Amino acid sequence: MRIARWSARLLCFDYSVVYRPGSQNYTADCLSRLPLPMSADIASDTEPEMVAQISATLASLPVVEFDTACANCPELSALRAQIQKGWPATIKALNDTLVPYYKLKDELSTKDNYILRGSRLIAPLSLRHSLIALAHESHQGIVRTKQRLRDLYWWPGIDAQVHAAISSCVLCQSNDKTARTRPAPLHPVPLPDGPWRKLGLDIVGPFETATPDCRFAITLTDYYSKWPELAFSRTATTEDVVHFLSSVFSRHGDPENIVTDNGTQFTSSAFASFLQSRGISHSKTSVYYPAANGAIERFHRALRSCIQSAIQQSAPWKQTVTNWLQVYRATPHATTATSPYELLYGRKMRTKLNILPLPPCTSTVDEFAQDTVLKSKTRCSATLTQNVVHRYLLFVRMNRGPVDCCKQSCRKGTRQHAKTALVQCAASRQEKGA
Ligand SMILES: [Zn+2]
Repeated sequence: MRIARWSARLLCFDYSVVYRPGSQNYTADCLSRLPLPMSADIASDTEPEMVAQISATLASLPVVEFDTACANCPELSALRAQIQKGWPATIKALNDTLVPYYKLKDELSTKDNYILRGSRLIAPLSLRHSLIALAHESHQGIVRTKQRLRDLYWWPGIDAQVHAAISSCVLCQSNDKTARTRPAPLHPVPLPDGPWRKLGLDIVGPFETATPDCRFAITLTDYYSKWPELAFSRTATTEDVVHFLSSVFSRHGDPENIVTDNGTQFTSSAFASFLQSRGISHSKTSVYYPAANGAIERFHRALRSCIQSAIQQSAPWKQTVTNWLQVYRATPHATTATSPYELLYGRKMRTKLNILPLPPCTSTVDEFAQDTVLKSKTRCSATLTQNVVHRYLLFVRMNRGPVDCCKQSCRKGTRQHAKTALVQCAASRQEKGA
């Protein structure tokens, strides 16, 4: 933190750092350190308070910027030319910059200004640093940042660059996420048959340094997709938990089974009757072994790390955790190698990292929905005309006639529309009759 403070103070200077050995680094004598007497009329030369505002939220990359960077990148231009010309028989005939691409030559293709390795974009030199910063948003560890980035992009040396970037991230180093090793689970929990069937529920807190509305966090994790849900709360009563679950279930539906520890919120009769009313079974972990609810314990470690980052950045907890949750849901999980979002929704999440549009949905459900919308559109115009005529006729019958209607509180547009519709309808009926 001290180095971060120094670098913030020096931001306004253009300087270079030169190493000087201790033997040549003479300390100042006492006379040169002795302050001169200050007179009252001398303008204050105290250092102004420097505030370095570093934006905490990174903006996504505009498509135009990515497009231009791809077109102007010397490495990608050389690669594009090589792909169009065809690859030589041996690697020796290649330019040095293209050597890393030689063994992947069968996977490379071009599309407009872009070059793809399979379905992943090869990022231009000028934007690689920005893409790493975007993937490292919310300060996930090295493995998760790499997974997130490699899902969409590739370039030679991507892993080493991500490693170097996170090694120099002050926040990650102060949290030291990489230092701890975790023992492997003795009895891995088998995956349920599908998403949102078995959920782990727990309460974290109280957080002593939190604002009153963030003292507790109620958390829920899907055992299959690893999708997390979270709500901060002032208290952690059964009512709070039931309110949280009702809100989440309104979006995702009811699960079949919920796993909790033996907290009083979960052993109360109110909680039991809430679950019973929705037909949800309840499993409790052993009193002496709360870590048995492994899926949620793992999520809690990541959550604590996120909260620690928010404290260090003096950022609001709720906003920081909300942003982090999106990144967490979009990142492939270590257990399933797929993102929670994809396992729950069956499609990929669009995030700030995406440049190319997502592929169209092709499931039978999507095709059915698109087909239904198309049919309803063609039906819509005929139904609209009939509705307008019906309303107009009703209006005329209730009043004495169209002339008197004008004096009533009837909207002109509606009446005229109805008249036109009536004429059109009559004409079409005559045509049909003829
Ligand atoms: Zn970081």
